[in-house]
Amino acid sequence: MSTLESSVHERAYQLDRQYVFHSWSAQADLDPMVITGGSGCRVWDDAGRSYLDFSSQMVNTNIGHQHPRVVAAIAEQAQTLCTIAPATANLARGEAAKRIVDRAPDGLNKVFFTNGGADAVENAIRMARLHTGRDKVLSTYRSYHGNTGAAVVATGDWRRVPNEFARGHVHFHGPYLYRSEFWASTPEQECERALAHLERTIVAEGPASIAAILLESVPGTAGIMVPPPGYLAGVRALADKYGIVYIADEVMAGFGRTGTWFAFEPHDVVPDLIAFAKGVNSGYVPIGGVIISDAIAETFAHRVFPGGLTYSGHPLAAASVVAALDAMSEEGIVENAARVGAEVIGPELEALAAQLPIIGEVRGVGVFWAIELVTDRATREPLPAAQVAGLKSELAARGLLAFTAENRIHVVPPCIVSDDEVREAMAIYREVLSSTTIEGVTK
Ligand code: PMP
Repeated sequence: MSTLESSVHERAYQLDRQYVFHSWSAQADLDPMVITGGSGCRVWDDAGRSYLDFSSQMVNTNIGHQHPRVVAAIAEQAQTLCTIAPATANLARGEAAKRIVDRAPDGLNKVFFTNGGADAVENAIRMARLHTGRDKVLSTYRSYHGNTGAAVVATGDWRRVPNEFARGHVHFHGPYLYRSEFWASTPEQECERALAHLERTIVAEGPASIAAILLESVPGTAGIMVPPPGYLAGVRALADKYGIVYIADEVMAGFGRTGTWFAFEPHDVVPDLIAFAKGVNSGYVPIGGVIISDAIAETFAHRVFPGGLTYSGHPLAAASVVAALDAMSEEGIVENAARVGAEVIGPELEALAAQLPIIGEVRGVGVFWAIELVTDRATREPLPAAQVAGLKSELAARGLLAFTAENRIHVVPPCIVSDDEVREAMAIYREVLSSTTIEGVTK
């Protein structure tokens, strides 16, 4: 590394530490990694270190880093028009909305654009409340829906954070067989009991007060629990029975991550509202939104929807959506996620779990997998989060960027990942996990 490069690297770090106030952190504890470039499944700094990105930058870059077609589309739009108010018609915005509707189920034909995932959830909740004239929102304890007013209260894990938007939010247990709240031992039992619990919650709360059931089709940050067969269909049936709006939060799971355009697809359900962000354009320019059913859109045909954001359907973001979705279709990127998950990631992780008792369970679909780490397979005692943070650093030291949460490593590469890249990552996971000694774990 030349002195100049070293000073650029140093400066990036120093400026960050001096001026940037980071999310989800005690500021004094931070030691951020400097990232200056990326391509496909890799990112690098300017000090000669390169990383295989198996975090997809917050489970986001489904198309990989610096896809040339998306970069070119942003540049071209930037030459034409960089910004335009929401209450205008703009070709990029219209083309983006059309491509999203084309991939959504029949009967959802309008898109409301936001700046990201949390405000997509906020606006979906508001639409459901106005559409039903009801107040309450049901969501699961193990969920992540965003870090703004209503979205953070809907997020089960953070329900204890004081928040004036807490009005009308009720939580219930979703299916999670490995740590079943229902004493279930099979997926069928878990499904049946989870649905019975949801119905009891609805009845106890009073169906006439419930506007929406808000559900990640595959809960992401909370643990990548693929729902048992029949669960989402059961939720749809309960929503219909009680006149409740079913909001699918597809912010993390949507647009290819699970090997289908939407994670609910294999479960044969059609939600009323779909919140999306991340994978729709792989986060190249911030954007999210809500895909709206015809019935809910009709509510607002002659009645004002009192929601809106200055950057709604921002032209640079919209142009990047068009290019990203076209490239994903033409290059078979969603199909790649499905194949790599089924043929390589799943079997490789199963093989790892068979050898390493520190792994309690592996589960997932597409390029959306969790390794659940335990101190004892019999009791399923979670590996302490501090130890998992240490593993994350060890993985980075060996050139792998990992996503970790609680006692889990989430294996979440871009949808374009190759078999060889998965094998390269697996060798690093294996090396780090097999050299980890946990008190009480027999090898
Ligand atoms: N919903 C889900 C399922 C998410 O995973 C996230 C982000 N991780 C959000 C909503 C919030 O998205 P954003 O951070 O873009 O606001």
